[in-house]
Amino acid sequence: MVVVLRIGHRCVRDQRLTTHVCLAARAFGAEGVYIHGEKDEKLVEGVTKVVGKWGGKFFAQQIGNWVAFVKEWKGQGGKIAHLTMYGEKVQDVVGKIRKEKKLLVVVGAEKVEKEMYLAADYNVAVTSQPHSEVAALTIFLDRYFEGNELGREFGGAKVKIVPNKCGKSVLVCNKGAKQYKGEMC
Ligand code: SAM
Repeated sequence: MVVVLRIGHRCVRDQRLTTHVCLAARAFGAEGVYIHGEKDEKLVEGVTKVVGKWGGKFFAQQIGNWVAFVKEWKGQGGKIAHLTMYGEKVQDVVGKIRKEKKLLVVVGAEKVEKEMYLAADYNVAVTSQPHSEVAALTIFLDRYFEGNELGREFGGAKVKIVPNKCGKSVLVCNKGAKQYKGEMC
């Protein structure tokens, strides 16, 4: 079980980026995202809509105090991988992390407090260069799942893309009936 914790969300500044954290988490195999920070109903609503349309089981849920949340997670036997450019190289530690049964992957927004570095079982760097939480999360999940997530199916989808060399092919599923929509480039 792999879930993500996004900490320090700010409504105006981070809405797009936190949405992308959620969409990348979903597409790359995580079961859901807990969001800490400013309350943002639009964000959760937006992700829920995507899940309704594109299928699969995935949650986006806001939480209060992340310190208490992490303490409870660890109390239930969960482990924490905090993504930070200051951490150990992902390529060196991902094999060990893969053995954890219940994993919380943490990404920050701005400056992450020292307490998170101390609470984490693994502080993991996806290169030791500054970049983005979406990039770090995506590469981490892909390494964690060894690329197997790329072929994952999302059950109950209302729309499904049929991969196409050129153009857009979409299967629209409506109450069991399937309709094909194609568009050439
Ligand atoms: N200066 C900030 C700090 O002190 O953490 C960096 C903030 S960065 C814009 C937002 C998040 O992206 C970080 O909290 C971290 O989770 C992730 N991130 C950025 N670069 C990373 C890297 N090279 N490796 C792992 N995670 C990274």
